[in-house]
Amino acid sequence: MPILRVALNIPLDTLFDYIAPDACEADIGLRVCVPFGKKKLTGVILEVCSDTAVPPEKLKSVICIFRETPPLSAELLALFSFCSDYYHHPLGMVVMNSLPGKLRNNKPVSLKVHVNRDQFVLSAAGKQVDTSTIPARNTLMHRLLATLKSTPSLNARDVRKISPRAGHILQDWVRKGWVDIIPETDPAVATPAIPKLTSEQSTAVGAIAEKLDRFDTWVLHGVTGSGKTEVYLRLIAQTLSKGKQALVLIPEISLTPQLESVFRERFTMTRIVSLHSGLNDSERLSGWLQAQQGEAGVVLGTRLAVFTPLPKLGLIIVDEEQDSSFKQQDGLRYSARDLAIFRASQAHIPAVLGSATPSLESYYNVLNDRYHYLRLKNRAIKNAVLPQVKCIDLRSEKPLNGLSIPLIKAIDVCLAHRQQCLIFINRRGYAPVLLCKSCGWTAVCQRCTSRLVVHLQDKKLSCHHCGYLESFPHACPQCGDQDMMPFGRGTQRVEESLAMRFPSARILRIDRDSTRRKNAWQAILRSVHQHEVDILVGTQLLAKGHDFPNLSLVGILGSDISLYSTDFRAGERLFTQLMQVAGRAGRAKISGSVLIQTEFPNHPLYQALQRHDYDVLAKTILAERKMAGFPPYVYQALLRAEAHSLKKVLDFLDTAHKLTQSLTGIEVFDPVPAHMARLKGMERAHLLVQSGSRKKLQIFLAQWYKQLSALTAHKVRWSLDVDPIEF
Ligand code: ADP
Ligand code: ZN
Ligand code: ZN
Repeated sequence: MPILRVALNIPLDTLFDYIAPDACEADIGLRVCVPFGKKKLTGVILEVCSDTAVPPEKLKSVICIFRETPPLSAELLALFSFCSDYYHHPLGMVVMNSLPGKLRNNKPVSLKVHVNRDQFVLSAAGKQVDTSTIPARNTLMHRLLATLKSTPSLNARDVRKISPRAGHILQDWVRKGWVDIIPETDPAVATPAIPKLTSEQSTAVGAIAEKLDRFDTWVLHGVTGSGKTEVYLRLIAQTLSKGKQALVLIPEISLTPQLESVFRERFTMTRIVSLHSGLNDSERLSGWLQAQQGEAGVVLGTRLAVFTPLPKLGLIIVDEEQDSSFKQQDGLRYSARDLAIFRASQAHIPAVLGSATPSLESYYNVLNDRYHYLRLKNRAIKNAVLPQVKCIDLRSEKPLNGLSIPLIKAIDVCLAHRQQCLIFINRRGYAPVLLCKSCGWTAVCQRCTSRLVVHLQDKKLSCHHCGYLESFPHACPQCGDQDMMPFGRGTQRVEESLAMRFPSARILRIDRDSTRRKNAWQAILRSVHQHEVDILVGTQLLAKGHDFPNLSLVGILGSDISLYSTDFRAGERLFTQLMQVAGRAGRAKISGSVLIQTEFPNHPLYQALQRHDYDVLAKTILAERKMAGFPPYVYQALLRAEAHSLKKVLDFLDTAHKLTQSLTGIEVFDPVPAHMARLKGMERAHLLVQSGSRKKLQIFLAQWYKQLSALTAHKVRWSLDVDPIEF
C-alpha cells in the first residue's frame, strides 16, 4: 500500500504519513487533503514510499488528492527543502506558506479563464482532433470545437457566451496543447522607441548575454539614472526569445505598476504577471498558475515571488538588491535575494543583482571574485549628470522651524524656475515626542519600549510599532501641568513649516499615512508628473526608484540620528537611503542639487556622499567590520525569544546557552534584551551565535535546533534568524 509523506502547515519539523491506495510517484508535488486530529488539512505530497514508522492502527487514509493543477516541480521542492534546512524552519510550513491562499484551502481550485483580453485559437494539434473521440453526449465540447474551427479566434467573452462552463474545457485544451493563447496587443499603445544603449550599458548586456546558459551571480552597480532598467529589458528580451521565463524581484509594491507598464510596452506579445501582497486571492492564484504553466513570460514581484513555480526559468533579476525588504522579518526569515541566487544556481542561469549601492555582502563577494561585477558610472540620458551634493552646517546656520536659510533660499530659486523640490525626512507624524515642559514626562507606549508619536491633525498619539492610538492628554499625567510640547519633527510638521514659509507653493506629503488609500500612489505619481505639485515632503517611500523628471532640488533633514546608532548596519543603510533620495534629483534635462542639513558635515559618510564615492565608503566600512568581526567577515544567527515575562525569556535563553558549551569555531554571546525590549506586550531578548565558517555554523544550528525543539518546559515563543539584519 503506498504511503504518502505530506507537508502540512504545522509547526513541527516533520512530514506526516498517510495511506493512499491509488497514489503513485507521479503524484509527488500534488496537493492533498488529509485528516488531522478532528480537522481536515491541505498539504503537499513530498514523498511516496512503501513503509512508515507510524503504527498501522494510527495510520489514516488521505481524503482526496487534488489533480486539477499540475504538481509542484522537483526543482521547487528542492528549493523548499534547501530553505527549510538553511533557515531551520519546518519544511511543511515553508511549502504551505509559499502557496497562494486558494491553494492552501481544502477545496479544488477552479481554473477560470483568467485573462479576459486574451485571444484563443486552435493549435495545429487542435485542428487535427478527431471529433469522434469526443463523446456525442458532450454537446458543449462539440459546440466549442466547432466555434473555434469556424472563427479565427475567440476572446473570453465569446467563450462565456457559448456557456459559463466552456472556460473550463478551454483551459483543459490549453493544457493539452489543442488551443493556443495569444495575448491581445493593444493597438492604442504605441510601441516605444527603443533607446540606443550607452557604451556602458552595452558592455553590461553583452557580458551577461554571452553567458545566459550558465549560473553566475552578476552585480550590476549603476548610479541612479544609469539605465539599469534598460539593461534588464535587453536581457529579458533575449531570455524570452529563447522561449524562457524571467523572474524580476523588486523591493516595493509601489514600484510594480510603473515597472509593469514599462515591461508591457516593450514586450507586447508576452504575458506579464505581477505577484505581490496587494493582490486579492484570485489574482494571485491566476498569476501563479500562469507562471506554473509557462504562459507568463515575465514574473514581476516582491520577495514572496521568489517561490513562484517557473518551469522555463531563464533569468533572475533582483533590483535594488541591498533593500532590507527582501528579508522576511517574521515566520520563515528568508532572504529572497539569497534564495534567488540559489534558484539561479539550481537552474544554471544568471542571477543579476542591480543596485546603485550594492549591499556590503554583495560587494565583498565582488572583491573576492565570487560575483562578477559590472559598472555603470554615468547617467544614461544625454547630459544628465549626477546632482551636486552639499552639506549645510547647522552649527553655524541655525534653522528656523527646522529649515535653514541656505535651504530656504535654494527652495526659492527652485520654485522661481518652476521646478520641483523634495524635502526628505525619514519620520512620519508631526513630532516623535510629546514632552511636559515642567517635569520632563514623555508619552510612551504601554505595550512597547517606544515613545508615542504626535499626530497633530487627528489629535492623537500613536505607537508606530504596535499601532496603539490614544487621544491627546489635556494635562501632564505626572504633574498636571498643561504646557505639553511636541518635540522634534516629522513629515507633518515639516509640511506645516513649509506651508508657512512658502504660502503659494503646492505641497504634497508622502508617507505611510498619506498613501494608505488604495491607488493613492498612482494619484500621487500622476500629480507629480503633471506638475500639480511644487514641493514634495516625504519619507523613504519617496526614495526608491521613482522617476521625477522635473525635480531639481532635494533637501535632507534629520539624518544625523542614524550616524551614531548602535546598529552596525545603520551607516550602510543611511548611505544607501541618501544616495537613493539624492538620485531623484536632476534625472532628466535639468541639473540637480542636494542639500543636507547636518551638524557633522565632515563625517566620512557625508564626505563620500558629496563625492558620490561608494567605493571609498564601502571599503572603509568593510575595514571596520573586519576589525570588529562583523558580517560579511562572519556568519551570524540569532536565537530570538519572547514571552510575557522577561524572566522566562532569559531563563530559556540561558538554557539554550548551556547547550552550546565547548564548541570550537562557534562564538556564542550572552543573552541580551532586543533593541525593542518590549513589543506588543511581549518581552523580547536574543542570543547571538557566529562563526567564520558558514558550514560550521549550519552544522551547529541543525543540532541546536533539534535540542531546542525538544525543550518543552519553557512557555516561550522562539525562532532562529539566520543572517539576521535586525537586532
Ligand atoms: P536606474 O534604474 O539605473 O536608476 P533608469 O533605468 O530609471 O535608471 O533610467 C533612467 C532614465 O534613463 C530613464 O528615463 C530611462 O528611460 C533613460 N534611459 C535608459 N537608458 C537609456 C539610453 N540608452 N538612452 C537614453 N535614455 C536612456
Ligand atoms: Zn509634567
Ligand atoms: Zn506600541
